[in-house]
Amino acid sequence: MQRCFVALGSNLEQPLLQVERAVEALKVLPESELKAVSPWYHSVAVGPEQPDYINGVAELDTSQSPLDLLRLLQAIENAQQRKRLQRWGPRTLDLDLLLYADRQINEPDLVVPHPRMLERNFVLRPLYDLAPALVLAGGVSLKQQLARVGMQGLCLVTP
Ligand code: ADP
Ligand code: MG
Repeated sequence: MQRCFVALGSNLEQPLLQVERAVEALKVLPESELKAVSPWYHSVAVGPEQPDYINGVAELDTSQSPLDLLRLLQAIENAQQRKRLQRWGPRTLDLDLLLYADRQINEPDLVVPHPRMLERNFVLRPLYDLAPALVLAGGVSLKQQLARVGMQGLCLVTP
């Protein structure tokens, strides 16, 4: 089994419900075990003007290959009526593979570690909740990177 982290995000059609449903789907992913889910965060959208997001991170052990895992994540997105209309546009569900063990992957369909995660506090903060001691590729600690990026636009969803 390989340890993975998956980012969840939604800003359409009851975002909190969407990410909770995605967690249910991750629980029954074949050859995988859902280990933990971060608290949810509310984040102000970047990119084109659009509703705010709910974001979080899930920790998963899996024996699926990285590409098979990506396909399974995309199937969950599709099952929740994800439509690809506009890059970085609004979506019912976005599942990004952040980390797959300590693998570096550079394929046309899959880049891991996820290339934009270092700039995104809505990814770094929930990842930090699950793995506070994590050191990123290049030797930067998650904690340092989070301090750099700051908490602007981000707040915890109180249950
Ligand atoms: P974004 O998440 O950047 O807003 P999409 O979710 O629409 O964009 O994904 C676009 C493409 O990104 C997908 O077709 C997928 O093949 C590719 N991709 C590359 N690396 C990853 C990754 N680590 N996780 C998820 N998708 C990825
Ligand atoms: Mg995506």
